Amino acid sequence: MIRATSFEGKSVAVFGLGASGIAAAEALRDGGARVAAWDDGVAARDAAIAKDIPLVDLNVADWSGFSALVLTPGVPLTHPAPHWTVMRAQDNGVAIIGDIEIFARERALHAPGAPFIAITGTNGKSTTTALIAHILRHAGQDVQMGGNIGRPILTLEPPEPGRFHVIEMSSFQIDLTPTLGPTIGVMLNVTPDHLDRHGTIEHYAGIKERVVLGGDIAAVGIDDEYGLAMLRRRINIGPVVAFSAEKSIAPGYSLLDDTVVCSNREGLAVKLGSLKGISTLRGKHNGQNALGAVAAVRECLSALGRSTDIDWQGALSSFPGLPHRMEEIGRIGKVLFVNDSKATNADSTEKALLSFPRDVYWIVGGKPKAGGIASLSPYFGGISRAYLIGESMEEFAATLDGKVPFERSGTLDAAVWAASTAAQASEGAEPVVLLSPACASYDQFRNFEVRGDCFRGLVASLPGIEIRATP
Ligand code: ADP
Repeated sequence: MIRATSFEGKSVAVFGLGASGIAAAEALRDGGARVAAWDDGVAARDAAIAKDIPLVDLNVADWSGFSALVLTPGVPLTHPAPHWTVMRAQDNGVAIIGDIEIFARERALHAPGAPFIAITGTNGKSTTTALIAHILRHAGQDVQMGGNIGRPILTLEPPEPGRFHVIEMSSFQIDLTPTLGPTIGVMLNVTPDHLDRHGTIEHYAGIKERVVLGGDIAAVGIDDEYGLAMLRRRINIGPVVAFSAEKSIAPGYSLLDDTVVCSNREGLAVKLGSLKGISTLRGKHNGQNALGAVAAVRECLSALGRSTDIDWQGALSSFPGLPHRMEEIGRIGKVLFVNDSKATNADSTEKALLSFPRDVYWIVGGKPKAGGIASLSPYFGGISRAYLIGESMEEFAATLDGKVPFERSGTLDAAVWAASTAAQASEGAEPVVLLSPACASYDQFRNFEVRGDCFRGLVASLPGIEIRATP
């Protein structure tokens, strides 16, 4: 737990009492601040009371005495419209910050050189963050990982020299962190997403760019126009390295066949590790994540004056991966079962279909997104049969009609059974039963994790299944 000493003796409003809001309120209270915490939900307020967090109804509070409003990233700062707490704070000249800003201030006060790696991007943040933490731990470093993945940042151990904080950041969190200042900021990619909460793509990319501009060093993925523009702007400001999964670059990090290489300006390349056969880093998108992770760790170690001569191959090969992202669950004979429940839209499912190009028994459906699965038609040729579940069943049946054999399974258990039976009868070399729904889960499951866990349970109960051991 980190104590927020930078607000000692000051009054601070905290709005939004989920896990990160509660942790912020506790950190502020334990650091000597006067906390005024609030949430619209009774259950959240009860959770705060159970932790001895002082509640103040911010609807009727006097805002003039607050030094800051600590806002949960789930609450709109700008789009579609600023939340009422944001307007009250602005009317009273109160700074609006998030829990990661509190961390940044503690680090600046007590351990300014402590290694701090901040990761953002539209896609691949969690995988890259987990991989960075894994590589560092594999190299024997003291690592704390959190932020938008796993634990709220203020529940982690405090920053100190020699301890790495590896922190995933959403755009909402960046927007609430004006003095971020990481040792290295990693930006993976920018594609349109959450524009309902960010207005335009330019505004969204501009927020992400703060991770690039504010760090001692920056590592930037340049496989989209926004990343490339960020690289160009950063070059004038300070040290930066680029990475690309699409093409060979010098200087920078890229893939030579399946091998991660770092090239200098003259094109001289150091081979760092091959991704070939690493099931948890399958697909070009994971190539981008691996490049971002290797670049971040190597450049950070080098900036700290530490050896970069670490066992890159051993670290990459032993990455256990994250659940629900093209996660290999097990096999029955040659049939592979893959849980990609995190794929809640067609773009994510595209990554899975690119990674498994043939003989796929595809379990798809749920609460559909606009556009459905029409954009996936270039990959339909690799699908042996589709098993439709959930609310989207008739819509997807219409999309697949005449192009892909399919059946209306309705539920996940019926789909798993039917897909498994058909895949085992396949004559292909490696048939794949793939849950990659391209849909939200809320019509049949509480969230994508519950959907993926349910799939794993169903697969585990199939006769003859061999569950994959974690590497
Ligand atoms: P995030 O934390 O940004 O949501 P994850 O690492 O959890 O990203 O991956 C979520 C999904 O996004 C994956 O299942 C995959 O479909 C897709 N994805 C992962 N990495 C990338 C990438 N580098 N580029 C594009 N899509 C990606």
